[in-house]
Amino acid sequence: MWYVRGMDERISKDAELAGLLAAALDGTLGEPQARQLAAIEPKLLTLAWLAAAQRIAEQNARIAQLEGRVAVAAAGDPATPSGQRPVYAKPPSPVAAAKRRAKKLGAKIGHAPTRRPRPQQIDRREEHRLQCCPGCGGPLQRCNRTRTRTVEDLLEDLRARATEHTIHRDYCPACGKHVEPVVPDAMPHAAIGHRAIALSSWLHYGLGLSIQQVRDLTLCRFQTHLSAGGLVGAWRRLAEVLEPWYAQIGREARASAVLHADETGWRMNGRTWWLWCFANPRVCYYLLDPSRGSPALEKFFAEAFDGVLVTDFWAAYRAFCQERQCCLAHLLRELEKVDLSNGSTAWQAFAKQLRRLVRDGLRLRKRADFTPQRYASRIGRIHRRLVALAEGTYPDADATRLAKRLDKHVNELFTFLDYPAVPPDNNLAERMIRPAVILRKNCQSNRSERGAAAQAVLMSVYRTLKLRDHDPLATIDSALRTYLTTGQLPPMPPLPVQSVADG
Ligand SMILES: [Zn+2]
Repeated sequence: MWYVRGMDERISKDAELAGLLAAALDGTLGEPQARQLAAIEPKLLTLAWLAAAQRIAEQNARIAQLEGRVAVAAAGDPATPSGQRPVYAKPPSPVAAAKRRAKKLGAKIGHAPTRRPRPQQIDRREEHRLQCCPGCGGPLQRCNRTRTRTVEDLLEDLRARATEHTIHRDYCPACGKHVEPVVPDAMPHAAIGHRAIALSSWLHYGLGLSIQQVRDLTLCRFQTHLSAGGLVGAWRRLAEVLEPWYAQIGREARASAVLHADETGWRMNGRTWWLWCFANPRVCYYLLDPSRGSPALEKFFAEAFDGVLVTDFWAAYRAFCQERQCCLAHLLRELEKVDLSNGSTAWQAFAKQLRRLVRDGLRLRKRADFTPQRYASRIGRIHRRLVALAEGTYPDADATRLAKRLDKHVNELFTFLDYPAVPPDNNLAERMIRPAVILRKNCQSNRSERGAAAQAVLMSVYRTLKLRDHDPLATIDSALRTYLTTGQLPPMPPLPVQSVADG
């Protein structure tokens, strides 16, 4: 293949990983699968194993509680009227449980606020004090004001660690205010650090695990309790910070010489939306939009695309590119589909000719021994055969329909012969869209436009990092630290040099 080496493998491993992690949480992970998981990502095996152990402990506790309840109930005489039985011996009432849930969350107005309890066990302590004022650079008057903040995060080997940060506030006489240093380990007000946020959002948006699966896997050993809503909130803040990377991926996609595009249905709070994917071996940009036509494409391209666009036969793409390669795999699949229902000799003769033409085109591409002149004359011959096939008249309806399509796309079927970097099929885009389809099944798409925006950003960032062979955790951790200390997100890391040479 003419793609970046190893890309296929990396993408198929992602889909495999999602399945293996789900099996680990279900308790259905067999030994061969465990070995597979260890081979792909040994750290994740540890994580899955710990999550499973936690689950077993919780279930055992529940079973013990139930057994205790049964024993108490059995001790009482079954003839005893319900009103005389102790409350603890009765099963919980579903009505009362529903009432408890209906109660509004949070303290009553005027009552003291309750905070999330701080982790009891602190593994590490760190002090933060400014040397000079961050605003004016002038000297500071030392004050005795401090506050503490606890952040839990995952280490390199995915063990959890709680750090207590002591933050000193000092006074700047020039600015006339108190100033304090930034803690680069976590986003403002966040109780969990960058690596935990990166790992959890990668498992969800990158691999397609459900939110509950992600919580089971990543948060089970944290002392900090983080609700599903809290986790989603943290992901959205991450997406907001990574927005410049999303924009950068879009710019790089639009500036590339070859770009694949594909779209698939999406659900958005009950309505039908579309997930668009624009990708090549270096970038992958997802767009969630209510439109399946020009409005969405206009949003992405803004103006006509300069390179070769590889797509299926969907008409909306035509207005946005000068050169296009329509997917030959789609065309061949269509022939197979008609074969099933149409056995007429007229159809078979047409299909045979078209198949032979496609095959000859694909073969010509591989002829590295041809001189440029000979290659060009063969391309001319292929083109003349295509025109003849497209302009012919056929007694068969399917043949007529297909010939019409050939005529419409007469300049868009063998573009790949003119450009070595253009593949004859759109398999790449279809592969890129598949992980998103897994996610759609697991998570019922999006409930809000804000959620959809975060989804598009994080899916694009994780897929592109994967294509570029960067570790998502380390990359995001370091980018967020830079962002917090300098106020600027560094540019998205490029493709490693050796991979460029492979392509
Ligand atoms: Zn100052």
